[in-house]
Amino acid sequence: MRITDCRYDRDRLRLAVAYRLIAHEARTHTIRHCTGLSGDRIRKLYRNYPADVPGPRVRRRRGKSPRQMSYFRRSVEHELQAATLATLLACCGLLRRIHRLPAPRIEDVARFCDAYEAFLCVCPSTLISFEHAWYLGLTLARRDEFLLARCPDCRAAWIRDTLDLLPCNCASCRYAALPVPAKPEALRADC
Ligand SMILES: [Zn+2]
Repeated sequence: MRITDCRYDRDRLRLAVAYRLIAHEARTHTIRHCTGLSGDRIRKLYRNYPADVPGPRVRRRRGKSPRQMSYFRRSVEHELQAATLATLLACCGLLRRIHRLPAPRIEDVARFCDAYEAFLCVCPSTLISFEHAWYLGLTLARRDEFLLARCPDCRAAWIRDTLDLLPCNCASCRYAALPVPAKPEALRADC
């Protein structure tokens, strides 16, 4: 009886997490990897996703998931938001766990959703989609090419390229060193 209850609870958790991932417009194969549900089951969940859920209408994203860390270097804002999100993931202990093979634990995916939703509260108009966040988390968890580190100049959280091919300090330090006319318009008011 206890085993049955436990399986039932895990199935419920799997479905609840799948709905959270659908709400974040994760792609089908990401949901499959994160929850272990079949593609067919996920497509049915999409069809049954309640139309009366508050907020923007959920779209089903197709195509490949992000695979380029260069996305997080597109601008100062991208870099700062990526470092903020990575710090949250590290605080939740997720950078040690989500790259488990063959798949992450459903409890860790649920916690990842918690962290990403907390991040959305901090950065409501973020440039980082759930898919980008998941890719960032997996990449940092592998600890090979990129690490969450401290900037050598200001000690702020910073995503460091371990091959040292990219800049050697954080976006804030590089931004502070720019002459005013070269600074992005959107950030100049925050000087
Ligand atoms: Zn710095």
